Amino acid sequence: MYKFFIETVGCQMNQLDSELAVSGLTRAGLERVMDYAFADVIIFNTCSIRQHAEDKVYSAIGRLKQWKLQKPFGVIGVIGCMAQKDQGKIISRAPHVDLVLGPGQLDLLAETIYRLLETKSVGVSTQPEILVSLQRLKDDHSAVKESFRLFDPARKVESRKNRFQALVRIMFGCNKFCTYCIVPKVRGPEQSRSPVEILNEVRQLVDQGVKEITFIGQTVNSYKYFMPRGNIVTKIPIPLKDVGVVGGDDIIRLSDLLYMSSEINGLRRIKFVTNYPVGMGDDLLSAVRNLPNVSKYLHIPVQSGSDAVLKRMKRQYSVAEYKELIDKIYETIPDAAVTSDFIVGFCGETEDEFRETVELVRYCRFKNSFVFKYSERPDTRSAELYADDVDESTKKRRNNELLDVQEEICLELNRKFIGRKVEILVDGETKNYDDGKVQLSGRTSCDRIVVFDADNSDLIGQFIEIEINNASPFTLFGCR
Ligand code: SF4
Repeated sequence: MYKFFIETVGCQMNQLDSELAVSGLTRAGLERVMDYAFADVIIFNTCSIRQHAEDKVYSAIGRLKQWKLQKPFGVIGVIGCMAQKDQGKIISRAPHVDLVLGPGQLDLLAETIYRLLETKSVGVSTQPEILVSLQRLKDDHSAVKESFRLFDPARKVESRKNRFQALVRIMFGCNKFCTYCIVPKVRGPEQSRSPVEILNEVRQLVDQGVKEITFIGQTVNSYKYFMPRGNIVTKIPIPLKDVGVVGGDDIIRLSDLLYMSSEINGLRRIKFVTNYPVGMGDDLLSAVRNLPNVSKYLHIPVQSGSDAVLKRMKRQYSVAEYKELIDKIYETIPDAAVTSDFIVGFCGETEDEFRETVELVRYCRFKNSFVFKYSERPDTRSAELYADDVDESTKKRRNNELLDVQEEICLELNRKFIGRKVEILVDGETKNYDDGKVQLSGRTSCDRIVVFDADNSDLIGQFIEIEINNASPFTLFGCR
């Protein structure tokens, strides 16, 4: 039996794609190993968001030259965004790579690897295969949709991080074309999956023991699917209460999906990421407020607190509009936890523009922020239009300052939980003590990390109540 090793970097889309790749390969008869030294096939699922992520992949592939000399019949594959973006460049930089396969071709992975392995095993040398097509990503009737329909739901339980949490892709691609981002070029335009297929997949996952699902999409709140609402009653195989879903126009939105999936018995928690600041409608906020099993956690990246920078980034909102959205969220869902992403040192960012970003972080009181230094990406509009003119030390200083401000806010917000009881889904073990006891961790509905001591790991996968007795900026501590 051939063995494969897979290394994944990047976002939750990539995490899900790797789960799908693992399922496809194991179904085809390959066995997964956790150490590449024992593998016949090594796959890198790559990310193109930052130069650093790409450099790491190129150097890891470079180090495999030796492995290839010892195992000439082995297969090295590169999948994910970098595969779509760089295509033949990967083979010219690393001629020992055998396969480059884009995100829209995942359903061809197992068959292609098998073909390469079988051919090589009889001593016939193979040419590298490059299977990337943006056209396929753009074509509604293509195998990408087919892959949604057949491939996503067919993933094996073992390919997931654990048995009680699962990612469910509800859409693919992005139409926003932010100037710094490569995603629309490598993942194609937005395509939403049918709600019937999504709900069937969720139900199937719940039947397998999943308690928490996360709907994922690059701009998940843009989810829209045309379907005459009369059809929903007959086509969606779950009992619907009178939740206001059936009626109105013929577009199914994310809020409708939340209402419908919240009816599935046994599904205790539903999350959705990542939101774009435009299109966070009242219907969506009401759904988050009204549905007890929808997580009160909203990740809405703003990227900058300066209108001038947002304009250069081609983000489609102003700072005032973003603040208005934040006010509306806290008004509608007072216990909401909002998180954001920031890029500091974007082309031409002045000290005053950066100060506006600091001010926005103080205003919004995010539960947490992910801060990145701008990294110029070839083939993006910003690389074409603007100079990457903020020096590295300034980027680093702004990055650290923003993180410090955010950390203060995190601590203030977390301290408010001391003395309160919270419900968490226990998701893992963080420490082993000498006496055999363990420290476990879990997350609240508002996505806060909670750690506590327990006698053993039996609570993993369960919802339990914890009384909080201490807090740090990023963790709550408690006991049962
Ligand atoms: S919204 Fe902007 S940053 Fe997000 S995936 Fe689309 S283009 Fe990239």
